[in-house]
Amino acid sequence: LQSQLIQAQKMESVGRLAGGVAHDFNNMLGVILGHTEMMKEQAGQAHPFFEGLVEIEKAATRSADLTRQLLAFARKQTISPKVLDLNETIENILTMLRRLIGEDIDLEWHPHEKLWMVNIDPSQIDQILANLCVNARDAISDTGKVTIETGTVVFDEDYCSHHRGFIPGEYVLMALSDNGCGMQQETLTRIFEPFFTTKGLGKGTGLGLATVYGIVKQNEGFINVYSEPGEGTIFKIYLPRHIGKPSIKDSRVIESPEKGN
Ligand code: ADP
Repeated sequence: LQSQLIQAQKMESVGRLAGGVAHDFNNMLGVILGHTEMMKEQAGQAHPFFEGLVEIEKAATRSADLTRQLLAFARKQTISPKVLDLNETIENILTMLRRLIGEDIDLEWHPHEKLWMVNIDPSQIDQILANLCVNARDAISDTGKVTIETGTVVFDEDYCSHHRGFIPGEYVLMALSDNGCGMQQETLTRIFEPFFTTKGLGKGTGLGLATVYGIVKQNEGFINVYSEPGEGTIFKIYLPRHIGKPSIKDSRVIESPEKGN
């Protein structure tokens, strides 16, 4: 509980910091980029400064990307939860995820046949999966495999007494596994901290899993991570089952409206 509290406080201060600074910072980067581009054009490729200007442009572009991510992380996004079948939501972005992880890595999809409904903003599912897929891709050095699956899980009192923070109930499971490099214990204990990254400068922001954690907590869900160095990693995300009627916006209801209700 103590570490969760620290986590929440860190997220909040990061949000405030980012909101205050990132916006101005992005504007200044715009000035740098604009002038660099103009100087490049005027100098021409043969000019001795040209290569230097290219490098400035690259670094400023990377900084702008990072700032954008920071802003996205800090922004209090208005979310619109919907009652949905996670299988459909995942199927809608599979093509995008395949593109994200590249051709050398296989993406396997194992939907659970009779999945329970959840109540969540579908774009938050997209965000979770995109972040997990990028990490899985980066953990795989050559060729490899990423698997996404769904399932249904019931946590009883006994399970929850052994897993701190878990609350008994029915949950929909979304799991993403990779056979990449895995993590040492020291890394594993820090992965949800904002800005914690083992990727090099300009590559990682350390905000991916902090974002995932924030979304899952916001939706009263839980995360388990299993990782073995040299073997791979599994992220298991549990979202509370939604019991009751699907919302009117649910596509399956629109397709087969119940008359006389
Ligand atoms: P970033 O990807 O920018 O580093 P994240 O918060 O997404 O930030 O991840 C934090 C760190 O957790 C990564 O730098 C990496 O060390 C570790 N990590 C996350 N996912 C995996 C994975 N699937 N396999 C191995 N290490 C991982």
